[in-house]
Amino acid sequence: MTPLLEVRGLTQHYRTEGGGTLRALEDVSFTLAEGEVLGIVGESGCGKSTLGRAVLRLTQPTAGEVWFEGQDILQLPRAAMRRRRRDMQIVFQDPFGALNPRHRVRTLVGEPLTIHGMPGVAARVAELLDLVGLPAESGGRYIHEFSGGQRQRIAIARALALSPKLLVADEPVSALDVSIQSQIINLIAGLKRRMGLAMLFISHDLSVVRHVSARIAVMYFGRIVEIADAASLFDHPAHPYAQALLSAVPQPPGVAPRIRILLEGELPDPTNPPPGCAFHGRCAQAMAVCAQARPALVPRRVGAGVRDTACHLYEVA
Ligand code: SF4
Repeated sequence: MTPLLEVRGLTQHYRTEGGGTLRALEDVSFTLAEGEVLGIVGESGCGKSTLGRAVLRLTQPTAGEVWFEGQDILQLPRAAMRRRRRDMQIVFQDPFGALNPRHRVRTLVGEPLTIHGMPGVAARVAELLDLVGLPAESGGRYIHEFSGGQRQRIAIARALALSPKLLVADEPVSALDVSIQSQIINLIAGLKRRMGLAMLFISHDLSVVRHVSARIAVMYFGRIVEIADAASLFDHPAHPYAQALLSAVPQPPGVAPRIRILLEGELPDPTNPPPGCAFHGRCAQAMAVCAQARPALVPRRVGAGVRDTACHLYEVA
């Protein structure tokens, strides 16, 4: 079956003021099925938000292809891309920054419908507010009158207005209090079930990603270093960077805590990437080859199974 989304070799470079090249995203490939949620995790600066924006063509990627329902959207003319955008929406970390404070909520939520000339805007706005758990009278109020969690509900309602097939949720709960985070995660998980939405769920927090994702891609220094179904990754992370990230995630009650792997050192300089594996300067399991040859993200033998991971510790399957 053709996947809803197929990303091939997606690369995003930026020119720096000094004339150098900042490599934000390098050769990222993955597929996403209809209705599937892929979690994207990694430290701040690893390229995960760049990936979300590049997939939606909110930036113009340097190289690669983004196939959405069998069409490479990076090649679409502007007008065709505008029409395509109805099917691909994004929710940002900071809804306040993304929503015009001078408009009432009903205008903000209904705006995508108005732009696309859809009929029945008022009724659809009422339906959307109900869908995200806000009372109908919210439509007459302004965004500053709402709490952080309620603002994120409004941003989600707006993103869903055109019934998209793909939603990129870029750190949708990281600006919220922990108590509110779980409400928004539950809302997103429920909407995914009810609407069959496919989603790229981007977060630096693995425990957040786990709640909604069937598969998880771990990113480091602009590349995916491991991609696996959520249960396998949580039970047996293969890549040493994924192991370090997982070691910091609290275990459920009654389960022995993992031994914490503390990462030393910083991310390498993206304008001057090191040779070999980008993680070798911080990896406790690094070998001589790691400083020379970059390991490809390919299926490798991990224990009794096969896993897509980019690490010389594992034989190519
Ligand atoms: Fe560590 Fe080498 Fe694997 Fe990179 S390739 S994660 S340095 S063992």
